[in-house]
Amino acid sequence: MEETAHSRGVAASGSHVVTRLGGLVQLQHWLDTLETTTTPEEITAALRDALGYEHVTLYLREEAVPSASHTWPPAEESGLVAWVVAQGAPLLVPDGRRDVRCCNAAGEIVAGSAMAAPLLIGEHLLGVLEVRAAEPNTFSESDLLILEVAAHQIATALESARFRAEHKALLEETRRKLDEMSTLYQVAQEVTGSLQLDEVLETVVQAIRRALNCRGCCVFLLNPSDQMLEIKAAAGLKPEWRHMARLAIGEGIAGKVAASLQPLYVPDTQAYPDYIVFDPEVRCLLAVPLQAQGRLIGVLNIDHTQPDAFTPDHERLLTVAASQVAVAIDNARLYTQLLAEKRRQDEFLAIVSHELRTPLTCIQSSVSLLLEDEPPDGETAREFLEIIQRQNERLVLIVNNLLNATRLEHAELQLVHQPVALDELISRAVRRLRLLAAEKQITMRTQLPDESIRIVGDADWLEQTLVNLLDNAIKFTPPEGEVSVAVQVMPQEVEVTVRDTGIGIPESDLERVFDKFYRVPDQLSGVPRPRYGSGLGLYIVRRVVEAHGGHIRAASAPGTGSTFIISLPRGSATPDYATPSAP
Ligand code: ADP
Repeated sequence: MEETAHSRGVAASGSHVVTRLGGLVQLQHWLDTLETTTTPEEITAALRDALGYEHVTLYLREEAVPSASHTWPPAEESGLVAWVVAQGAPLLVPDGRRDVRCCNAAGEIVAGSAMAAPLLIGEHLLGVLEVRAAEPNTFSESDLLILEVAAHQIATALESARFRAEHKALLEETRRKLDEMSTLYQVAQEVTGSLQLDEVLETVVQAIRRALNCRGCCVFLLNPSDQMLEIKAAAGLKPEWRHMARLAIGEGIAGKVAASLQPLYVPDTQAYPDYIVFDPEVRCLLAVPLQAQGRLIGVLNIDHTQPDAFTPDHERLLTVAASQVAVAIDNARLYTQLLAEKRRQDEFLAIVSHELRTPLTCIQSSVSLLLEDEPPDGETAREFLEIIQRQNERLVLIVNNLLNATRLEHAELQLVHQPVALDELISRAVRRLRLLAAEKQITMRTQLPDESIRIVGDADWLEQTLVNLLDNAIKFTPPEGEVSVAVQVMPQEVEVTVRDTGIGIPESDLERVFDKFYRVPDQLSGVPRPRYGSGLGLYIVRRVVEAHGGHIRAASAPGTGSTFIISLPRGSATPDYATPSAP
């Protein structure tokens, strides 16, 4: 009873065939606008409209239409669909009463006549279109042909809808990527346009706020001295919050990001217990770490007044922007450092030439006076000679410091270790500066232990150290003041204290005075300071003391004088009972 084949080419006759041909055209129009969201029910309704069939069923594989509602493979209601699926060919059953394929599982006849056609794209089966009628012999071969065409139309429409949807998704993905790229490019361009840190930060927050369309954007930078995160630039934030927000690492959202070095998204600040409320308007927040060369330098933060306003896209963009921003910040800092270094060097050159010129001019004029046709009397001549000696000592000090600083710059400090009698070394240094002190009527005192103290070290470098400290003490003490050197011997170390009654050093500068080229500015100390000095003396002192395994500290308050204490390990230091001093 099984119908295996159907002859093609049966002439389509009768008015209903013509009507249905017109229906195919109508169907095609409808299918032209088919989308992946169209349901099989909508398609069958359109088919019914266009072709006039009463009982039409469309079985679709889920992949053909995501909204396919009929289960696939279709329920074995009739063998018709199963046959079409198996054969991949259309089938017409003119008389259902004589064909098991028109019976259901219970053996009941489900249709007087029926036909079905596969929805094929090449070899690939998308589904089956089935039409039934209650009466036998309702359909002809022409009807089957029309159904086949309709199935083909539907398959093609489904396939092109899927293709269009995929294409659209791809297009959207490409557009999104392009948008991201141009956002990042825009940020990168704006951010790298400047080398001034303030400008960079200001541009960053503006550019990111614009590009990511958020309410506020701010940059926290880590303050290396106290390890606190401070807002350094902000866009869209009220100024009062900007000054209030100071966070320790681990504290608040930015602090947590700094601690974990991971981005953090808070979709709803009101539901987040660790959120520190600075600005109650902020309802959602996204923060990413700023790292340069593997070091944390700060946190980049965006916020919104709506909860859940950010997506993974925002996080990705902000992370990439953060890496650009970190590099820009690093570059700006480096540039600032270079500028400062250059400025210091220029200043240094100016100071050195000035420093050298003053004693040289003094020496030159004293020598000219001594060599005049009528030479000065003995006492005046002696005064001139003393001036020459003093200025010569100053020249030696300056040149020694310059040479020593250059040596320290280019090589590790090479010490010649030998036993040194500390008291003799101090007396020598004091003698060298006697004239400079006398010039200002400054009293020089030394307090040395009764017995000579011997340490192991480099006599020349240690003498230079003491000379530098004494020279500063004299230089920064007004006339008629006092400079003293004292030695205290302790079990493990020896302390040499140089104290003066001079203008002092502000507390904030007590550490910096040991930096190369650093000189306390007038406005910091509040007192006019001598404008000479290279800023190298204490730098050399610290390097030498540390190379001896010791350390130096300074104590001072403006107006009350300064104290510098050098501690040197005694090592094999012993009271000197026998050996005379060596250097
Ligand atoms: P300089 O050659 O300028 O003295 P130093 O490195 O020896 O260079 O000192 C650095 C700065 O520290 C000085 O310029 C001065 O401002 C300050 N300073 C050093 N010693 C004293 C002191 N005894 N009293 C006051 N200020 C001092």
